[in-house]
Amino acid sequence: MRYFSTRGVGPVSLDDALRQGIASDGGLFLAEQMPVFGIADFDNAESIPQIADVLLRPFFAESALVNQLEAILTETFSFPIPTTSLPTTRGKLALLELYHGQTAAFKDVGAGFLAACLSRLDSDVGSPLTILVATSGDTGGAVAAAFDARPGMRVIVLFPEGRVSDRQAHQLCCWSDNVVSLQVQGSFDDCQALVKEAMADTELSAAHRFSSANSINIGRLLPQSTYYADASLRHYRRHGRKPGFIIPTGNLGNAFACIMAREMGLPIGPVILATNANRTIADYFETLQWLPRASLQTLASAMDVGDPSNMERLRKLLGDADVLREQLGVLSVTDVDIEASIRQDFDDFGFATCPHTATATHTWRQLDDELVEAHDWILVATAHPAKFETIVEPIIGETVPLPPELEDILARPASAMTIKPKLSALAGAIADD
Ligand SMILES: *Cc1c(COP(=O)(O)O)cnc(C)c1O
Repeated sequence: MRYFSTRGVGPVSLDDALRQGIASDGGLFLAEQMPVFGIADFDNAESIPQIADVLLRPFFAESALVNQLEAILTETFSFPIPTTSLPTTRGKLALLELYHGQTAAFKDVGAGFLAACLSRLDSDVGSPLTILVATSGDTGGAVAAAFDARPGMRVIVLFPEGRVSDRQAHQLCCWSDNVVSLQVQGSFDDCQALVKEAMADTELSAAHRFSSANSINIGRLLPQSTYYADASLRHYRRHGRKPGFIIPTGNLGNAFACIMAREMGLPIGPVILATNANRTIADYFETLQWLPRASLQTLASAMDVGDPSNMERLRKLLGDADVLREQLGVLSVTDVDIEASIRQDFDDFGFATCPHTATATHTWRQLDDELVEAHDWILVATAHPAKFETIVEPIIGETVPLPPELEDILARPASAMTIKPKLSALAGAIADD
């Protein structure tokens, strides 16, 4: 399988696409063609690693990692990803729980897979590969956890000062010496721009052997498509119907992975993107104009993205807004509705949702009865509510118990360096290290 940049450069191998993260022309890598499966192709696959093996094997054709795919998948899917049904009188409803990994958010899947691949491909103790990661909260923690203490690999985490929760900040800053945490005096978009600028700087890039672990790396998307394959197959085998998915969306990585699974023939019905007040995608579908903008701060901070990178991939894969809006739904959810939804979820379902997940539950409540009747729906839970306790607990009036993974992490000491959103500041911070 060969990979091309959305802007044309290529072909490159999977291994190079994983290493480079972003293509040399600034575009994002996509497989030359999507493999297409029939449901029967998965007849002998029961567990997620087995389903992943069928789904991802074509992407690894000609990769140096092909013989290690099974081990990579076992390592990646070391925690459960259950779909649990939710009590409701409106149709059939379930929750895809993506928050049982090490840092209690779905990004543990992509980060774990990428770390499992890169450490087999490219670790070099003499000249470590340096993973640059801009984070609006959850990515950085997941990537740091996945690469923590791996020999020959280094991680630089950039996060926006004051825009992540205390527990998230802790998760970004509590790792071994091979993880450098930088608090940037700016927004997530500033952090992301800084990563792009650093990677485009040939001198700096050669000195540090930069790679990226943001959701622009194809190594994040591939494993994410497997939990949609698994959840949809299990639903289809049991009920004979293709479930629809409602997906909390920021940079559009997780939703892209679902769309990719649907393109590959998995039994997936409608896909609806739930965004927060950052309306870039909603406005695009409405006006057909792609107008990236500065991000707004919301309660669902990991989705505070004004210029979702993966839209470039999605347009390459499916087409522009006139096509996209036929194939996808989108709803932009305000903070007021997020708060109300967390409360409602607690009353209706008996547990708290995180502010991101609440954009999906709110979106589901907004669906008209016809749509609810026509499909079974799976809401995607992207993080554990205990990561966002300062938002969730006052709303529900109760303490959210910490899952054991988070308890472990919060018990570690944490520290970070603060920098201005300038390339020179980033270069200085990582040179001193
Ligand atoms: C990253 C994140 C999202 C958004 O996912 P994208 O792939 O960027 O669209 C949603 N919820 C949580 C909890 C996240 O960490």
